[in-house]
Amino acid sequence: MRITLPLQFLLFLGLQIALSMGLVFYLNSLATHNYQSLSRATAGFVDASKSIETLRQSFARSSNDIESLSTQFGNGQRIDVRDQALALQQIAAAIRNDAGLNGLRDSLGGDATALAKQIDQQAQTLISAAARAANAAPNEVALLQSELRQQRSQIMVQGFGNLITAANRSLETTLGMLRGTTESTGHQYLTLLVIFILLQFALMVTAFWLVNHQLQQLADVTDRLIDGEATAALPQQKRADQIGRLARAVQHFRTTLITLSDSREQLKAILKKHDEETMQRRRAEKQLQLSASVFDNVQEAVLLTDISGHVSRANTAAQTLLKQNDKQLASRPLLETLLGVDTAVIAPLWQQVLEQGHWLGEVTFTPERSAPVIAQVSIKLMGEAREGKGHVIFVLSDHTELRAREQEMKFLAEQDPVTGLFNRHYFVAEGNRRLEANPRQALGIVLIGLDSFRAVNDALGHRDGDRVLYEVGQRLLAVVGQGATLARVGGDEFAFYVTTPGGEALDATQTIAEAALSAIRQTLNLNSYHISLKVSGGISTYPADGDTVEDLLKTNEIALSTAKTQGGNQLYTHGGALQNQARRRFMLQQALEKALGNRELRLAYQPQVSLANGHISGFEVLMRWRHAGEWITPSEFIPLAEETDLIVRYTEWALSEAAKRVREWQRQTEETFHLSVNLPPRLLLVDKIDQRLAAIAKHSGLPLSTITLEITESSFGNDPALMAAQLKQLAMQGFSIAIDDFGTGYSSLAYLSQLPISKIKIDKKFVDLITDDKESCKLVSSILAMAKSLELDIVVEGVERPEQLVQLKRFDTRMDIQGFVFDPPQNEDFWEGLFMNGDSHVYEVP
Ligand code: C2E
Ligand code: CA
Ligand code: CA
Repeated sequence: MRITLPLQFLLFLGLQIALSMGLVFYLNSLATHNYQSLSRATAGFVDASKSIETLRQSFARSSNDIESLSTQFGNGQRIDVRDQALALQQIAAAIRNDAGLNGLRDSLGGDATALAKQIDQQAQTLISAAARAANAAPNEVALLQSELRQQRSQIMVQGFGNLITAANRSLETTLGMLRGTTESTGHQYLTLLVIFILLQFALMVTAFWLVNHQLQQLADVTDRLIDGEATAALPQQKRADQIGRLARAVQHFRTTLITLSDSREQLKAILKKHDEETMQRRRAEKQLQLSASVFDNVQEAVLLTDISGHVSRANTAAQTLLKQNDKQLASRPLLETLLGVDTAVIAPLWQQVLEQGHWLGEVTFTPERSAPVIAQVSIKLMGEAREGKGHVIFVLSDHTELRAREQEMKFLAEQDPVTGLFNRHYFVAEGNRRLEANPRQALGIVLIGLDSFRAVNDALGHRDGDRVLYEVGQRLLAVVGQGATLARVGGDEFAFYVTTPGGEALDATQTIAEAALSAIRQTLNLNSYHISLKVSGGISTYPADGDTVEDLLKTNEIALSTAKTQGGNQLYTHGGALQNQARRRFMLQQALEKALGNRELRLAYQPQVSLANGHISGFEVLMRWRHAGEWITPSEFIPLAEETDLIVRYTEWALSEAAKRVREWQRQTEETFHLSVNLPPRLLLVDKIDQRLAAIAKHSGLPLSTITLEITESSFGNDPALMAAQLKQLAMQGFSIAIDDFGTGYSSLAYLSQLPISKIKIDKKFVDLITDDKESCKLVSSILAMAKSLELDIVVEGVERPEQLVQLKRFDTRMDIQGFVFDPPQNEDFWEGLFMNGDSHVYEVP
């Protein structure tokens, strides 16, 4: 059976009641006992009072009797005293024996006996008095009488006084007894009550403690459990009541809680993981969506094929480019669509993709009912190349337009639009190619110059002047043959190579040169004019006159100018002129070494002006050399410097000086002018050039982002990979990179777009094409458009005439102009003067 709390309470209550009852019973019996002894004492007291009253009455009577007797004696009467005596004896007997006097006897004890004895004595005295009285004479009677009175007073005083004293004593005793009883009872009551209260208190405290202590423990543990402190342990609990059950419940609760919180932790971990997974999945989904949208929206054609090369997905651009929809594309391997069905071509290529994982190349294919398309194809294997696994991604960029433009540019880069012959650039490059291919050959170069072409031009106008040049070209072509390399190398200068398989070139060259001159001297009929041209020639031969075509051509030029100064209309070979040229070259080279130290080098700054608003956006710094009273042109001394490391020193000097200068102008005008510095190819071969230039720029205080390094396309000739790497380093330092003389080299725009280039400077050659003629403008506008589409900034160089500005403005205004139309290169004093008042100069744009 469970001893529940109510039961405990009941037991406790029972115990309390029993205790109280016991107390009440005990007090009751104590009271009863006291009452009994009290009432006994009171009864004795009443008895004694009664006996005293009886005695007092007996005494009073006998005293009266004795009084009357003595009175009678006084009167001489004779009386029977004997009767009186007998009465007294009866009283004495009554005192001794009377039941009514028992109480008195008890309390009086010896006194009562003494009283009875006195009364007996009196009775005896009376008897003897009576006897004497009967015979006594009258005087004796008087004696007797006083004797009697004496006796009577003796009894009254002694007997009764004793009696009162005894009664008093008895009363006191009784009262004392009563008081004692009452007092002790009171004390007992008080003690009992105190003990009872203490006992109650102790009991209550015990009971309270027994319940409270356990509950407190439980409460504490529960509190801590609520606070999440599941480690709070509970002492072993064996109680059978509710508290015990509660404790065990709490204990159970705690164990459950511990398991629960463990589970919760696990659950939390699971939830966290789940959350992360969800996040990841969402991210992946987003990525996927993004990828899908990128896939669909990129300009490039993107196709996904399985491992056998069959298209599984193709974006819109791909379907447009290939002019086939999904289904058509899926019908056969993509390579067949692109390259045709020739397995000898396709199989090895596909093999390479599967083995090396990628392929990059250009293909030309012809979609149905369309013109051929040139596309750069990047193929990449995704995953493993196993049957049923892996995918292959094709990315096709349409290069048709680019190639066409490049073709046009190549033509322009190689051809002279006026005569249809090659241009100087091509001529030089071609000659060097030949020399490189066969350094042992003998080669002659003929340079032909019209003696007074300016006069022809002035007389006939540009258009007819060009026709004359064209005709001269045709006549030369007839002499040298269609396969020969014939070029217009200057305004009125033509050049061609003469190859002589068998050794010495001079004679053969001279012969052809003479033939060429006489062909030109033939009268030329143009419209109604008959024109006879005077013409001179200069000859150089390899290897006698130089190692490179550039050197050889210099000999040609010296020979030609000698011919002209000698009167013109004649042919001249190198002769002593070469000696002079070599000597000058050597002399300049020596002097150049000391030029900087001798303060012969200066810097000039040419502004680059925004076509939109005429504001100066920056300056190109150009070097000037004044030596021995003569200005040496950059085209003469820069190549000399470039032959040695001198160019590195001078470039660093130019950057340092110009950066400080431009920084100063920025301060004066609060404009953010940028600075362009020419960076010759040789510098790209210098180790850590990026750090060196960056250090110089930082020292000057001009932000790197406002500095542009100009490189020419020819910089990439030697080691394109190294150059590209160096350019990237420079760009990472913060420099901007511009392509200088854009359009004179061979580099493709597609290639340039992979380099960190932010600007192109379109060469003067293209600007010269800008005339009223719509066709020639088209090329310039398409170059501008292409540069824009590659997000390149544009500087147009060599603009000399306002009409050119007007035309350029029609194409686009987002470009800078560098040309004489605004300002030629000027020294720092010029600009200092301009910016002196703190205003920046604004040019007028027509
Ligand atoms: P560049 O880098 O293409 O410099 C532009 C050249 O075009 C400058 O010739 C400039 O005077 C000229 N120019 C500017 N506007 C016009 C114009 O409207 N019409 C004409 N006809 N010419 C214009 P410059 O100063 O004689 O320099 C020639 C070349 O020498 C430069 O061509 C550059 O390749 C080289 N050069 C000049 N200064 C330096 C230099 O400090 N360092 C290096 N590495 N090369 C330099
Ligand atoms: Ca330049
Ligand atoms: Ca240039």
